Amino acid sequence: MSSPAATYDLGKLYGGLRLPAEKTVSTSLEIQEVPIPDQLILPIAQHVGEPAHPIVGIGEYVLKGQLIAEPYGSLSAAVHASSSGKIVAIEPWPVSRRYGENAPCIVIECDGDDRAIEPPEDIAPYNTLEPRALRQMILQGGIVGLGGAVFPTGQKLMQATTLPLEYLILNGVECEPYISCDDLLMREQAAEVLGGAQILMHALDISTCYVVIESDKPEAIAAIGEAMAELGDKRIVLKQVPTIYPSGGEDQLVQLVTNLEVPSGGLPTDVGCVVQNVGTSAAIYRWICEGEPLISRVTTVTGPGVRSPMNVIARIGTTIADVIAFAGGYNDEAEQLIIGGPMCGKSVTTDRVPLVKATNCVLVLTEAPVYGNEQPCIRCGECALVCPIQLLPQQLHWYAFADDEKKLRSYGLTDCIECGCCDLVCPSHLPLTASFRNAKVRIQELADEKSRAERARLRYESRNERLASENELRELQLDQQKEAARKAGPSAIDEILKRRKRHDEDAE
Ligand code: SF4
Ligand code: SF4
Repeated sequence: MSSPAATYDLGKLYGGLRLPAEKTVSTSLEIQEVPIPDQLILPIAQHVGEPAHPIVGIGEYVLKGQLIAEPYGSLSAAVHASSSGKIVAIEPWPVSRRYGENAPCIVIECDGDDRAIEPPEDIAPYNTLEPRALRQMILQGGIVGLGGAVFPTGQKLMQATTLPLEYLILNGVECEPYISCDDLLMREQAAEVLGGAQILMHALDISTCYVVIESDKPEAIAAIGEAMAELGDKRIVLKQVPTIYPSGGEDQLVQLVTNLEVPSGGLPTDVGCVVQNVGTSAAIYRWICEGEPLISRVTTVTGPGVRSPMNVIARIGTTIADVIAFAGGYNDEAEQLIIGGPMCGKSVTTDRVPLVKATNCVLVLTEAPVYGNEQPCIRCGECALVCPIQLLPQQLHWYAFADDEKKLRSYGLTDCIECGCCDLVCPSHLPLTASFRNAKVRIQELADEKSRAERARLRYESRNERLASENELRELQLDQQKEAARKAGPSAIDEILKRRKRHDEDAE
């Protein structure tokens, strides 16, 4: 079967780096399935936004695919049991997230039977559903952005439709070294990826979809090309892009593919684009067409410290220890465990943390990072040349050091995507990205504190206003009663005076 030609007409990508790929080590095998573990650890906050609300109790038996925590608040995502078993705890557990080490988790002791909930008898074809109903359904599947952003997909789609939209961009650009889960997913599940694209186009009422893949992934390009030819949907177009880190960032991808620039502080929807990861697209297909919520994902287990690097499909909640054991375990040189890639991942000190919806890579390195060899900035400007957002990292670093919130904001700290390019080129070995990350946390804490203080002030003022208006009303009523009593005679006046005394005592 012939594949459609990929297109190359690309927009501009600022800065960035060509990094050693280190991917072939994990792409020689097909995706391997990790067995059901003894225990599943399911954090109730695996997404951006409010934690989900547990709806199961300790001792309860649950089935695979059963809803165990429902979305709570305006931005949240459901959590489903990823195998059958008994709930044995709902308690804090070590997790791998950027800001914080422990989070409430639902712990399932698996029975190994993997009994699933009954799938719905008649699954309606997606294109018979109203787009709004389809978006609501996606919300219920617990689906979040699997590229790492973990924004609840249903809510992203709902927010997107408040603006005019032109392009759906499926992100198959996996530019960080070592990570190859999307590459393998596209090779092996191309039809599901494209099926998800069709669902998304219907849900968003969009008639152009770009599937974007880096040119160093010929197998994925061929597989997607063949699936496109089979599907015959002319609305879907394959685009190849060069492998430059961080071209897979949402804003960078929009710029590269459409030549439209996402405004500072804005979103791709501001320029008519919705970006979804290819894994998210396949997850949407499985939920809408097969009734399976997001209970597993493909992840890369790799690095020089792991015996058999590979891509695995694992149930959400499987511990990293179980995943690494499945990949042959650590070798003798293993030194550092990172959840995510070497550029944006998080180093963790325990492998008891669970694999979550965001876990696209488990990386074991053989060299621990060296700290403390920083030198003063020599103002060489290298960091600014590679910054994809065109920021001035050396200035930002200085203002982060000085804790100057105003300057940090005016120099665009909030636009920094924490890609780490500036760190890599800095001859003074300054931990630039870490300082930006910490500064963002401080600014956020300050903003939270300000908003708490503002809420307290408003509460205090509104209480005072309420008390003043109640007093005013009581005074008015007493005056009216006094006037009526004066007309009625002396005994009534005594009664009014008693009431006024009581009122004054109450007010004291
Ligand atoms: S690369 Fe490092 S030394 Fe050079 S200007 Fe940037 S912060 Fe300073
Ligand atoms: S970490 Fe931030 S400042 Fe540094 S290159 Fe990336 S976007 Fe620019």
